[in-house]
Amino acid sequence: MKTCVVLFTRDLRVHDNPAFASSVGAFDVVLPLFVHDPALPAGDNRRAFLRGALDDLRSSLRARGGDLAELHGDPVTEAIRAAKTVGASAIAMAADVSAYARSRETRLAAACESERLAFKTFPGVTVVPPSAVRPGGGGSHYKVFTPYYRSWEAFTFRDVVGAPKKVSLPADAPKSWFSTAIGDAGETAARKRLSSWLADIAAYGDIHDDLAADRTSRLSPYLHFGCLSPREVVDRAQGQEGAEPFIRQLCWRDFYHQVLAAFPALKSKPYRANAEDEWRDEKDALQAWQEGHTGMPIVDAGMRQLRAEGWMHNRARLITASYLTKHLYVDWRAGGDHFFDLLLDGDVANNYGNWQWVAGTGNDTKPYRRFSPLRQAERFDPTGEYVRRYVPELAHIPGKAIHQPWELPAAQRRGYPAPIK
Ligand SMILES: Cc1cc2nc3c(=O)[nH]c(=O)nc-3n(C[C@H](O)[C@H](O)[C@H](O)COP(=O)(O)OP(=O)(O)OC[C@H]3O[C@@H](n4cnc5c(N)ncnc54)[C@H](O)[C@@H]3O)c2cc1C
Repeated sequence: MKTCVVLFTRDLRVHDNPAFASSVGAFDVVLPLFVHDPALPAGDNRRAFLRGALDDLRSSLRARGGDLAELHGDPVTEAIRAAKTVGASAIAMAADVSAYARSRETRLAAACESERLAFKTFPGVTVVPPSAVRPGGGGSHYKVFTPYYRSWEAFTFRDVVGAPKKVSLPADAPKSWFSTAIGDAGETAARKRLSSWLADIAAYGDIHDDLAADRTSRLSPYLHFGCLSPREVVDRAQGQEGAEPFIRQLCWRDFYHQVLAAFPALKSKPYRANAEDEWRDEKDALQAWQEGHTGMPIVDAGMRQLRAEGWMHNRARLITASYLTKHLYVDWRAGGDHFFDLLLDGDVANNYGNWQWVAGTGNDTKPYRRFSPLRQAERFDPTGEYVRRYVPELAHIPGKAIHQPWELPAAQRRGYPAPIK
């Protein structure tokens, strides 16, 4: 079975897409992949447009029996990881021209070579590939439009390729790669997600704290907006092998709802009387935390995941919230409000209930508990893969050394800051 990964970048279509069509023609199985790259920020409008384009591409792929895998992080690292996970022997993509795109292409070509994968680029971003028509006399490009236009018109354009009719996906691609919550709202998507999640539930107890595995249900936004009934979720989970730890989490949800019902000021007042600490008024520290530039990689990875996806893994929520309140001593309300602003599942009971739990002002029976970010990182991201995904400037650091970049020479830290005090 020959498998290929097609890395989509800004060729978000199935019609006349040479990289995609050729791969579907030449391989038995194809993984269409888009990687959300934190190094390529986009304003709100462009993000919304991109989201729409990806959703539409996914529908077109699904209509052909395929799907769109969406990953987050450095596109080179993620494309290689995807290829290895599904046992692909090749990666294909459209060639592009910006300095960033070209360096991405060069890095990917080198990574493919060292992983013994074939790598091929295809045209498609322009009518005529940039270097296909050149001025006489050896120049690299035309400096004036009209002569360029004449050569361009005289050039034999490539044939338009049709949209492939059928796409076969690798059977072993993890379910969590497909159909992220953002943009996939509503009851219909929620019910689909629940069904596919229930097929995966047995592993939950062992793997739900593994940051890189990303194997929790991601049902929280649907539960928040009531696209799914929590009662029905429990009903469908009950009796399935390994469902107990998952059902327990749903109980946490009910727990905080009954706390909020009894204590409506949960968002603004400490739940335990006299539990308030003396918080520091540290605007710079708060901002560094919000932007994912604290110098503590596991914290920054979580905060960047929140910004990029409107969602954060529960373990990362615990680590980042503890870091803000018990390391930087910044008021839990500032952290809670920031989460609430960005989370798709932002929910008064669950958000502020959990924040107060972490800050020691709420329902934790051990209010002085403090998570060591480094120990948490070594335990729940032992290979550094989660950090590598969201903090691309550290992605070149191998293994768990990525968790302590301050131990490395400055050149290897590539501008990544020292931990803030
Ligand atoms: C500081 C902090 C802030 C949080 N803010 C929110 C929030 O605003 N909205 C929200 O829904 N959850 C919040 N949580 C709880 C938890 O992190 C998310 O519910 C979970 O990560 C959502 O992912 P999932 O659906 O894949 O969870 P799964 O692990 O698959 O759990 C299934 C469901 O159980 C419920 N659940 C899981 N953990 C908790 C928990 N600790 N408390 C309450 N309910 C839970 C959620 O509804 C979740 O969808 C917060 C946790 C922390 C530590």
